[in-house]
Amino acid sequence: MTHETSQRTIAVLGTGIMGAPIARNLHKAGFTVRAWNRSRDKAAALESDGITVADTPEDAAKGADFVLTMLIDGEAVEQTMVDGGALTAMSDEGIWLQCSTVGIDAIDHLASLAEKANRAFVDAPVTGTKKPAEDGKLTVLAAGNRELEPRCQPVFEAIGARTIWLDEVGQASRLKLVVNSWVLAVTAGIAEAIALAEGLGLDPQLFLDTVKGSATDNPFLHVKGQMTISRDFAPAFPTDGAYKDSGLILAAAQTAGIKHDVMTAVQAKLARTVQQGHGDKDMAAMYNATAR
Ligand code: NAP
Repeated sequence: MTHETSQRTIAVLGTGIMGAPIARNLHKAGFTVRAWNRSRDKAAALESDGITVADTPEDAAKGADFVLTMLIDGEAVEQTMVDGGALTAMSDEGIWLQCSTVGIDAIDHLASLAEKANRAFVDAPVTGTKKPAEDGKLTVLAAGNRELEPRCQPVFEAIGARTIWLDEVGQASRLKLVVNSWVLAVTAGIAEAIALAEGLGLDPQLFLDTVKGSATDNPFLHVKGQMTISRDFAPAFPTDGAYKDSGLILAAAQTAGIKHDVMTAVQAKLARTVQQGHGDKDMAAMYNATAR
């Protein structure tokens, strides 16, 4: 049998903002997708796309060539894979693609669980948010045994525009935290610049127009900037997830011996945003935590 016919069943565990479009793109690419989500109603919409929704992680993973986890954090991933039975249910030859952002301690722990269960494991967090996930244009950061690369590539090509392969499990999760330390800092900076403009009696659009096309411009500024100006914080990267990531980044910074003062401040702002009841809104809602 070729790859086309022999490596095509994938369980997607977690169908939130990122997991649902990932499942859809895998289905579109011809994989047999079995999805599971803790709150089943959130996965139900996938059924109309032809994706099977399973009642348990074990049912989704039974005999699967791949299990892709896209859950909130390391604890949720462990509960789903171990207590939920997916780890033992997947094919003996199957590969666990761990795509959630879990940080450096949890990724080592999850890899050790896979090793004990004799399952192949790839540390595979993604960069890009809701829209790139929908468009199949994520960047996959993949780390693990390079011999797994040819088997994983069809999966990563279905969900991403680019895959960056690294050799050791844990390196991809480290790189993901580096990228997110920048993304979170920039988002907080956008919120503060817009709040400052408004506080000084300026039209905040002037800020975006002034930067446009200069060396300090970037597309992200305009996406998050417009969301903020229009106060439309429909979640692409939810504040709860960003708050979780700020903790993972600070823990990593401590391990690295780095004083990440900016992230300490961003974490405080995210915490206030969550306390104000905006945890499920986009992290651009940090704007709400800018008032004195
Ligand atoms: P989300 O929409 O909030 O989805 C979170 C998922 O985790 C849901 O399926 C949720 O199930 C599940 N979950 C939470 N606690 C659980 C538990 N104890 N047991 C089982 N399932 C649990 O978040 P998302 O944005 O898709 O994020 C998923 C992962 O991708 C996170 O690690 C995030 O950091 C990462 N990520 C996000 C983005 C982004 O821009 N959004 C980009 C790259 C990576 P329920 O539906 O039942 O709550």
